[in-house]
Amino acid sequence: MSTFTDASGRLEAAIEHAGVSADTIERLRLPKSVLKVSIPVRMDDGALRVFAGYRVRYDDTRGPTKGGVRFHPDVDVDEVQSLAFWMTFKCAAMGLPFGGGKGGVAVDPKQLSMHELERLSRGYIDAIADFIGPDVDIPAPDVATNAMVMGWMMDQYSTIRRRIEPGVVTGKPLPMGGSLGRDTATGDGAWHVIRTLLPTILPDVEQATVAIQGFGNAGQVLATRLHEAGHKVVAVSDSRTALHHPEGIDVPAARAAKAEGGLQADGAREISADELLALEVDLLCPSALENAITEDNAGDVRAKAIFEVANGPVTSGADDVLSERGVTIVPDILVNAGGVTVSWFEWVQNRNGLPWSAEEVAERLEERMVGETEAILALTEEKGITLRAAAYVHALRRIGEAVDARGAAADFA
Ligand code: NAD
Repeated sequence: MSTFTDASGRLEAAIEHAGVSADTIERLRLPKSVLKVSIPVRMDDGALRVFAGYRVRYDDTRGPTKGGVRFHPDVDVDEVQSLAFWMTFKCAAMGLPFGGGKGGVAVDPKQLSMHELERLSRGYIDAIADFIGPDVDIPAPDVATNAMVMGWMMDQYSTIRRRIEPGVVTGKPLPMGGSLGRDTATGDGAWHVIRTLLPTILPDVEQATVAIQGFGNAGQVLATRLHEAGHKVVAVSDSRTALHHPEGIDVPAARAAKAEGGLQADGAREISADELLALEVDLLCPSALENAITEDNAGDVRAKAIFEVANGPVTSGADDVLSERGVTIVPDILVNAGGVTVSWFEWVQNRNGLPWSAEEVAERLEERMVGETEAILALTEEKGITLRAAAYVHALRRIGEAVDARGAAADFA
């Protein structure tokens, strides 16, 4: 089954509880537009290489489309379309004035020099410039694209338009109009979701044991917040190494080692990637890529709850196996929504020309994350549905209001 078929199937569980118009459901069946481009890049050795790039705008009923750009060898149209679909529901679930989009380039960025990476980032914007803009579609960071890449992208767009356009891209470096708190926003947001839900979903757990798959931007910040709050991060992994320490990993030291070039932690034992997913822990936080937990390995999971920090890490087949076994799953469109929330703050600051303080960003992020988490939890209790279904119901209702505001079938009868 394609990732998109699996992703869009998730709507089914929500539709019967959302009470939205048939127009809304019909509207969300297909992406608004899908762009595939070729990006020619002159490599350092003089050779020309052409990379495939994508940008999908899934739905813009609630505002300009918003979503990250991923550089990864597995990027294809199915993946980008699925990610744009999730962004649509994520932005609506958080009440942001955005629709959902996403982009990507099929490339292994680890094989590129810095010069090649810059040429690729600028070439991607050259190829999609007519498709994006501060009121149209606003890219942001995702896997393997950081603030520097966003800075190159904003700079290239401004060069093409012959005016400075900071609001075209979020996640930029601070001197180029970035927002304080954007670099830690996804992990910070995930932490607010965890601390809000923990007393309800695991009332007996005060000091949780946690395994984190994916020790990148999102995973590292979340690990730090958990560690600071006295929870025990007992396992972390990246694409090369997985480590387990039953007494708790020294997270700051592991981050320092990763920054130096390789994930390491004193006293930790190296385990396999599969073993990490099967550890007996309170919380499992898949924070790498989609499809980490499928029907094939869901039976091995021994965590009590899963917080989806990555987008789409648990397939719908795995959802069924896990819920039968009583594992609570907190969905991606809520858990990792801190990133796009602070991207919204960045866009607002760019449009106003007035930067906010770190405290203001942190307070507004906390208020939004806790408020929407509580609303989704209340829906779960009211309807007797999963947190995933409740998050989709919450989002669908907001999208439905925006669709119907333009006139629904009943208005034309
Ligand atoms: P990143 O590139 O900073 O980190 C990804 C990490 O995952 C890296 O450490 C990589 O080595 C690791 N990894 C890759 N494959 C792995 C595997 N099979 N097993 C274990 N580790 C593996 O990316 P990120 O920005 O932290 O994004 C991670 C996830 O969070 C993605 O699903 C992304 O879409 C999602 N997300 C990110 C943001 C954001 O603001 N960065 C916002 C929302 C959602």
